[in-house]
Amino acid sequence: MRALALTDNGLTYLSDYPTPTLQSGQARLKIRRAGICNTDLELVKGYLGFRGVLGHEFAAEVIEGASDWLGARVVGEINVSCGTCDLCLEGIPSQCRHRLSVGIRQHDGAFADQLTLHQSLLHRIPDAVTDDQAVFVEPLAAAYQILEAVHISPRDEIILIGAGKLGMLCAQVLKLTGASLKVVTRRDSQAKLLDKWGIEAVKMADLPASRANVVVDCTGSAEGFSSALGLIRPRGTVVLKSTYLGLPPADLTRVVVDEIKLIGSRCGSFEAALRALEQGLIDTASLVEQRYSLSDGLEAMQAAAQPGTLKILLEM
Ligand SMILES: [Zn+2]
Ligand SMILES: [Zn+2]
Repeated sequence: MRALALTDNGLTYLSDYPTPTLQSGQARLKIRRAGICNTDLELVKGYLGFRGVLGHEFAAEVIEGASDWLGARVVGEINVSCGTCDLCLEGIPSQCRHRLSVGIRQHDGAFADQLTLHQSLLHRIPDAVTDDQAVFVEPLAAAYQILEAVHISPRDEIILIGAGKLGMLCAQVLKLTGASLKVVTRRDSQAKLLDKWGIEAVKMADLPASRANVVVDCTGSAEGFSSALGLIRPRGTVVLKSTYLGLPPADLTRVVVDEIKLIGSRCGSFEAALRALEQGLIDTASLVEQRYSLSDGLEAMQAAAQPGTLKILLEM
């Protein structure tokens, strides 16, 4: 089958990647569409040392597996857990100590014609949700996880930095809380898009230091953390949504002296994301920058790496 894989020779397009074998309890998915995420770009740079097929944001069709799943349009959770470790038994499979992650850690991903995945990880895509929209379920679920990790009060003053692929989803989710929200932008196109959703766009230079109750870092870069620390008020909460290669240059003494809370959050509820898309609460169409066929995957990854690029879709 065709696949876009990370090998010892770097990112490679292969037309003869082995078709995955079906294990017990798994479904064979025919990938219909996939999205390129910042994490994919960081993996190519060396983050986590991943080898295998990239891709964890996708919409697919079940072509082999249990009869009740056959033919279903699905999205798939990315954390493949063991079910037996202490964290799995506590009901936190996303933090399983032995987990594999689709397209990220020891498990092939969705930038390929096919993917095999345990059926317990599948969610049906409602009829009202298109394949294009369904590609956003995984990152949108990650955006909703902010609300699971932090109590957001409608009285809060939130600043979000990093108006990229994930940031634009987080901004839409945070707007629904009713809190005051400002999003730091670098480009007019970002400000225009936010304006369409009724979200205030600001320039970093215009923001006062240490005023916001909550700062959300969606920059996807090591530098984002120190920017976030510059904006948060004493006893405020910094929410970290970025995964990247390298370490942040940041003044952690400020965290101690100003008693700042740091909250990390990663994967979230697919159910919530699917509901929000079905109800038309989240605009994903405006986030699609360009689409490529899988065979042009190398070109697609290059396009996705350009600063300011929103979602690049791969069509199988
Ligand atoms: Zn992602
Ligand atoms: Zn486990």
